[in-house]
Amino acid sequence: MLSSETIWILVVGGVVLILLGVFLIYMKTYVLREQKSKLEDLVAKRTVELEAANAQLETLVRNDPLTGVTNRRGFDEKVEEEWRRASRYGAFVSILMIDVDYFKNYNDNLGHQAGDRALKMIANALAKLFKRAGEVVARYGGEEFVILMPGVTPGETIEAAERARLQIEDLKLSHPSSDASAVVTVSIGYSIEFPGEMNSATALISAADKALYKAKLNGRNRVEGDRALNR
Ligand code: GH3
Ligand code: MG
Ligand code: MG
Repeated sequence: MLSSETIWILVVGGVVLILLGVFLIYMKTYVLREQKSKLEDLVAKRTVELEAANAQLETLVRNDPLTGVTNRRGFDEKVEEEWRRASRYGAFVSILMIDVDYFKNYNDNLGHQAGDRALKMIANALAKLFKRAGEVVARYGGEEFVILMPGVTPGETIEAAERARLQIEDLKLSHPSSDASAVVTVSIGYSIEFPGEMNSATALISAADKALYKAKLNGRNRVEGDRALNR
């Protein structure tokens, strides 16, 4: 037979053991909860960082690193977007295709770095000129820029093209080996269209390209339009 003292010690010991067990479980739960909360904070922080990095990447993918303006890919997306929008609202879409005159000579004469600087200045001048909602200035290729102007009239398109040409001329970048002028100039072809079932953004760009070719043939440092808009 156990003495009442031993029973008492066993009961107290048992209770102490149970309490200790409960305390240990409580501590373990607390530590796990803390770890979970820290992990959730970290995941949230990393998600924000990842979203910012993705947004930066999205911008970079559509940006021309030399000039800082939109690149061809960004332009192709925008032009389709604006074409669809104009088609919904019944508005014009205009394109200016811009090519630097005798730029190979410029590089040959003054060096490729000077050529790069000229391209940056041209891009900056154009970006300052076209910043209304929906307008896009993009580098289409080497020394070729393209401007998208949604919702402007044929008259405004021609005026904008002429303004762009003058603005580049006004940069007064000396071009000793140009047959068009003593300074860097551009030729511009414009096209304008009312989106419909019979036409497309691609056809609009190609019309501006043809007009640009005409501007080159007709002496450069000038603006020419597609068939519909004779000045
Ligand atoms: P045109 O008046 O008929 O347009 O004559 P062009 O000499 O401008 O035309 P061409 O197509 O023969 O030459 C384009 C030149 O543009 C050649 C190329 O070296 C230059 N170019 C293209 N991309 C760059 C660039 O990123 N930097 C520099 N510096 N030059 C470039
Ligand atoms: Mg060219
Ligand atoms: Mg050129």
